Amino acid sequence: MFEKILIANRGEIALRIQRACREMGIRTVVVYSEADTEAKYVKLADESVCIGPPPATASYLNIPSIISAAEVTDAEAIHPGYGFLSENADFAEKVERSGFVFIGPRPENIRLMGDKVSAKQAMTKAGVPTVPGSAGALPEDAQEIVRVARKIGYPVIIKAAGGGGGRGMRVVHTEAALLNAVTMTRAEAQAAFASAAVYLEKYLEHPRHVEIQVLADAHKNVVYLGERDCSLQRRHQKVIEEAPAPDLPAKLREKMGERCAEACRKIGYRGAGTFEFLYEEGEFYFIEMNTRIQVEHPVTEMITGVDLVQEQIHIAAGEKLRLRQKDVHLRGHAIECRINAEDPYRFTPSPGKITSYHPPGGPGIRVDSHVYQGYSVPPNYDSMIGKVIAYGANRDQAIGRMRVALSEMVVEGIQTNIPLHREMLNDIRFLRGGVSIHYLEQKLALEQKKKK
Ligand code: ADP
Repeated sequence: MFEKILIANRGEIALRIQRACREMGIRTVVVYSEADTEAKYVKLADESVCIGPPPATASYLNIPSIISAAEVTDAEAIHPGYGFLSENADFAEKVERSGFVFIGPRPENIRLMGDKVSAKQAMTKAGVPTVPGSAGALPEDAQEIVRVARKIGYPVIIKAAGGGGGRGMRVVHTEAALLNAVTMTRAEAQAAFASAAVYLEKYLEHPRHVEIQVLADAHKNVVYLGERDCSLQRRHQKVIEEAPAPDLPAKLREKMGERCAEACRKIGYRGAGTFEFLYEEGEFYFIEMNTRIQVEHPVTEMITGVDLVQEQIHIAAGEKLRLRQKDVHLRGHAIECRINAEDPYRFTPSPGKITSYHPPGGPGIRVDSHVYQGYSVPPNYDSMIGKVIAYGANRDQAIGRMRVALSEMVVEGIQTNIPLHREMLNDIRFLRGGVSIHYLEQKLALEQKKKK
């Protein structure tokens, strides 16, 4: 096992990884930007290295700085967390070439899945059903694009092959709007992801977002740990997640889990990974794979009892998976609310000093957050300041506990989306379970209208 791991991330996930390491007796090195000097996990780390000024491009995305921090501190492995460099194949390659272990998949797998077109092709080949769409990236020829879209049938969604974080997507309802939309998405994709490659997919009208968690070791052992339902979204960004997915038939879970595990074996996947699907009328359609730990991993941890971050570390150390499929049991229900520093109705970011902070507690409540009273949320990064996770014997109990938790929680000095969560936990359709990915936005739009 490693003696020292460098954490190449910030915020709640940096703390989460640090906790996993400390529990395992592994020393930690934290790299941080000038905006994160006051973070508590920086002080708790055995060593910390400032890697640059606040903008992420100058710090958390600065590959040479991170690698030299690992060199000067003699770290053996690097955990990339999520976001930032976590799905950057060049980074993974440079880490390994510099003699460190990358806690994640092999670079070629990251590359394969990082391009959504090649990912879909690989999945089709591995027998995983995908959303009907163009065979690959769209050609330049306008007539050909029109023909492809007609064949798929409107509405269609144009997606950037290199897209992520809910960006680089555009829905098109009519042929008249198609070519202009392709041009615009291409330009955005070029600017944001340095690749103008886009592809077309059937736009599903009322799917749910259901994703399957896998763990694979370097010896071709793979297990799946059930699914998460992440349908509550705004602008393609997840807001509330839960596990298991309400009313998913056990047989279907098993079938899809097996398919994902088989796909991992076929591509020689290693590490933690998530297969994301749209789920509509009993059918699964693959959209993409995330080759890293995800924000919503705690809900899976709560219902399986498996510490996914520790498993990532064991796998990276070359160990064989410590659990087999028959050891994976799903028990109870877990739900996660992402707490963002933002205006709960207008969604504008709300950085600044937290003047008063009281996290919730009690049976089944878990809070993954790095913030504390007096902490200043920097304006430079994602607005998520933590997650509240509630576990219960069943969905009703998990929701009940979450309701109590959020009624206790106090965050003052900045605005947060806690009021929105409180509202959702009393929403009749949400309480029934199984709403589609469009539900939250439709609800918000309706409320906007009522206010006017
Ligand atoms: P990203 O990598 O940016 O997260 P994804 O491909 O995972 O992009 O899609 C994010 C979200 O966008 C999905 O959870 C879903 O809400 C929506 N979406 C993506 N593809 C489709 C589609 N074909 N039809 C309807 N919604 C879609």
